[in-house]
Amino acid sequence: MSDHGILAVVSGFSGAGKGTLMRELLSRYGNYSLSISATTRQPREGEVHGREYFFVTEEEFLGMINENKLIEHTRYVNHYYGTPSEYVFRQMEAGRDVILEIEIQGALNIREKFPDALLLFVAPPSIEELRRRLTGRGTEGPEVIEARLKRAVEEAGGMEQYDYLLINDDLDRCVEEMHQLIQAQHRRVSNNRAFIRRIQDELNRI
Ligand code: 5GP
Repeated sequence: MSDHGILAVVSGFSGAGKGTLMRELLSRYGNYSLSISATTRQPREGEVHGREYFFVTEEEFLGMINENKLIEHTRYVNHYYGTPSEYVFRQMEAGRDVILEIEIQGALNIREKFPDALLLFVAPPSIEELRRRLTGRGTEGPEVIEARLKRAVEEAGGMEQYDYLLINDDLDRCVEEMHQLIQAQHRRVSNNRAFIRRIQDELNRI
């Protein structure tokens, strides 16, 4: 048993299929907690406050920043997004693995603050497939789709800063790979300091 739950960050271009992946991972395995972000963007059809996001006004969001309630936040295609800290810390302390599904700037901020966090990047098999998925989703107009593709161009430059790359061409395989990678993180020496200290203390007493 490692010291606490793993903090795993999952990023990927908008349309890479992260949402489906996350849902599948959470339905298959019981030890994951998905962090719910705050955002100033409008809910899409079917999205529920407190389930997909906490939908807040810009004023409320800025209040959360001032009160230090977010572990990280960023602006993405004209809206604010941020991760509330309390839930994340509480879940990790309880030994649960917490997943943040956030964009690259947030991911890199998390890495700065928590060097032990695991950074996973989910990519579609091709850009042609990415465009098809974004258009097929039918929730955004062409301008927003173009803005998101432009953002993908920027984000592509940061892919190399992640720990692992997952190609989402086969959902089943991708979910299993993600699960294995996160579980392997539990075995890292840096996540087992309490155990190591105990063993060393016992040996020192011999
Ligand atoms: P969407 O509007 O499609 O739900 O999300 C847009 C982007 O914002 C996605 O890449 C998503 O992962 C990212 N995102 C969602 N929540 C957060 C957050 O709390 N912090 C950061 N940095 N990015 C987020």
